[in-house]
Amino acid sequence: MVTYSYRCRQCGDFDVRMPMGEATGAWACPWCGTSAVRRFTAPQVRRGDVAVRRAYEYAERSADEPEVVSAPPPARPPRVSRDPRHARLPRP
Ligand SMILES: [Zn+2]
Repeated sequence: MVTYSYRCRQCGDFDVRMPMGEATGAWACPWCGTSAVRRFTAPQVRRGDVAVRRAYEYAERSADEPEVVSAPPPARPPRVSRDPRHARLPRP
């Protein structure tokens, strides 16, 4: 399904969802019933999967309302390798 935009001279813009390629140059306005002309706009593409969309929304939200922190994040424990070959490496 694709979202097509139409403009009614009296009521303004509205969107209609229909299968790709079935849009016509005019569509009846849902409020007044007069013929509305099709608007050609930028493609309305989905933003991808849910994780990407959530990260994008979080970045937008934090731009306007940054989170206030009271302390630095906790230090991570040092990474210890379990590979026995790493134990034979020279130490600084
Ligand atoms: Zn209208």
